[in-house]
Parts: sequence; structure tokens; C-alpha cells
Amino acid sequence: MIQISILSGKGGSGKTSVSAALIGLIAQEFLLTLVDADVDASNLDLLIPSAIQNEYDFFGGKAAEIDNDQCIHCGVCEHVCRFHAIKQNQSSSSLNPILSVDPLLCEGCAVCAQQCPQAAIAMRVQKDGVWYISHSEFGTFFHAHLFAGHENSGKLVSTIISAAHEHASSNASQIILVDGPPGIGCPVIAACNQSDLAIIVAEPTLSGIHDMQRMLDTTRHFNLPVFMVINKFDLHDQNTETILEICRQGDIPVLGKIPFDPQFNQAMIHAQPITQFSPTSFSSKSIQQIWHNLKKRMVF
Ligand code: SF4
Ligand code: SF4
Repeated sequence: MIQISILSGKGGSGKTSVSAALIGLIAQEFLLTLVDADVDASNLDLLIPSAIQNEYDFFGGKAAEIDNDQCIHCGVCEHVCRFHAIKQNQSSSSLNPILSVDPLLCEGCAVCAQQCPQAAIAMRVQKDGVWYISHSEFGTFFHAHLFAGHENSGKLVSTIISAAHEHASSNASQIILVDGPPGIGCPVIAACNQSDLAIIVAEPTLSGIHDMQRMLDTTRHFNLPVFMVINKFDLHDQNTETILEICRQGDIPVLGKIPFDPQFNQAMIHAQPITQFSPTSFSSKSIQQIWHNLKKRMVF
């Protein structure tokens, strides 16, 4: 079993569309388990229709909670909270203020709880999101929803990828395909953690090249074998050539180039991978070639 993570270093490069297109092809030949690791803004299910089978709560962090009956109004907690999460209730008297913690501002650092002379502050586990196991025509699908303003997306990504590995082992899936999160932060590191190889989807723009280089630095740090796909390569020949030159210098195999294709939008509107919606289009043919090139390099 191998885990392939599709990454981009940024949003908007077409990573999810390419992931869905590859899923449509891989599932024709291999038993597949799918993961959408973009837990902040999960959207693979727009292209891979699925039905939720199981739903689980995710408890990632803790938030402070004040017991106002124990409080002696010393003001220490308000003073030490550098995130300004502790507020006095406007309607309470200045002599006897009621304190509360804004859960959206609280970072769960527990400094207030440690400094409170009355031990009036407890750290409570909070529900940060939910994750799902769904059924799709391409394989069992693991995805999640992190609540707005809540942290620990890296931990949630690790949770669903570990669950996907457990499932893949028990049902003999040969490939786990992870549609990775954007950026290079904790969620991406969590996605890289159990990966056997990564595919970077880069677009030929200045910001696309910059983010691709940051992604390359990240994968290099984890010694992760990496392959390149250039999306919308025909939008800017010079920038595409720059990406190819970076790959030549870094000895990074280029699996293929995908042309700009409005059919991608149509495929999205019809909630299908492009390789299923329009299998004879130029973009589908280039993705078929990418899958062919990847398959030759995969070692099970
Ligand atoms: S540090 Fe403790 S006792 Fe002091 S104001 Fe805060 S909750 Fe009340
Ligand atoms: S746990 Fe940290 S962030 Fe939260 S209220 Fe206490 S000091 Fe502020």
C-alpha cells in the first residue's frame, strides 16, 4: 500500500481538480482509499459525490473556563492573557465583575489557569470539528470539517489519514490518495508525514512558482520523493519554462503538463472528475499520460 499526496503550496492551482481526475483513473485499476485533507475548506466531495456513513466528533484542543463563584476579582488572568480572550461581562458591576472567556480568542495556552491564585480556571476539552467516513463510487472516502476559528487542523488531518490507513490495511486498498491542504503549514506537514510520495501541482504564475518552491523545500525537509505536474501550462510559456528549469536543476521528474481547459469548470458543475466527464478532451488525455508516467515509477 502506498500513500500519494497531491500538494500545491497554494490554493487555486487546480490541485483538487487534478486529484479528482487521477482518482477517476486510478480507481479503474487499483483498490483506492480517498482522503480530503483540506479540513479547513474541504471540497473534493464536489467532484467525488459521496454518501456519509459514519460521523465522528473531533476534540483537538482545550479552552479556559472560569468559575466565577471561586473568583476573587484580582484581575491576574486578564492581565496575563496575551490573546485578550478574557472579558468582563458588560452588565456585571465593577466591584463584582463576571468574567468569561471568548472561545474564538482563547488559544488554550493555560497561562491564566496556572496564574490564577484561586484555581478558579479550568481547561476544558472543546469540540473543534467533525470527520466523516463516506462511501463513493471510487472508494471509501475520509474527510472532515474543522469549525471556523478553531485550531488543530494538523491534528485533524493526522486523525483522518491514520483512519484511512487503518481502513486501507483492513480492506487491502493498494493506494491511499490524499488531496492535500494548501500552504506549507501544520496540515501539510501532517499530510506529508505518512506519505510515500508527493505530486506537486504548480501553475505558471509568479506566485505559483514561489509557492511551488516553498512546497519543494518542505518535501525536501521530509525526504519525500516528489513529482511535478504543471497545470494550465499554456497560460504563460516563460513561467512554464522556469518551472521546468527548476525541476531539471532539482532532479524532479515532471509527470506531465495540463493545458488550460474550460471543460474543467463544466466537469465541476456536473460534479464529475474531468477524466469521467470528458475523457477525450486534451486535458483528460494529458492526465491519462500523467497517470501512465506515475504508474511506471510507483513501487509497491
Ligand atoms: S485570576 Fe482567578 S481569581 Fe483572579 S480574576 Fe482571574 S479567575 Fe478571578
Ligand atoms: S488559556 Fe491562554 S489564551 Fe485562553 S484565556 Fe487563558 S491565557 Fe488566554
